[in-house]
Amino acid sequence: MAQGVEGRCLCGAITIEVGIHRAETGACHCARCRRWSGVALNVFTAAPDQVTVTGEVAIYESEIAERAFCPRCGTSLWLQNPGEDYEFMVGIFDGAKDYPLISEIYIDRAFASCRFAGEHTRSTQADYEAKHPHIAEVD
Ligand SMILES: [Zn+2]
Ligand SMILES: [Zn+2]
Repeated sequence: MAQGVEGRCLCGAITIEVGIHRAETGACHCARCRRWSGVALNVFTAAPDQVTVTGEVAIYESEIAERAFCPRCGTSLWLQNPGEDYEFMVGIFDGAKDYPLISEIYIDRAFASCRFAGEHTRSTQADYEAKHPHIAEVD
């Protein structure tokens, strides 16, 4: 467990303080995450009671999760199902630079320009959706 990282959006209108959390990330290449992130989602999780957000955040409801962003500069901030853990975009936290990637999903949907090397768990769309039947991919 790690503690004490601070993140912010590009324009600085939103700042985020995260307390105790796991210092590791997951990646997703599904079409929703690809469009929202620009190519591939890479996030770490934190419990709601460890998170303090300052600034006015906009929310986009994307079927399986709420996606938060800065309404001023457009920075993608986090995904969350209400009441559940936050999934923060790792790149907005300078202190999370060395967090390893431990799992990657929708690998068969990954763009050639964004494939991750290294030892970590990998799941295809079929693998992942078999384990999470409420999720149906959209193109
Ligand atoms: Zn901003
Ligand atoms: Zn996804």
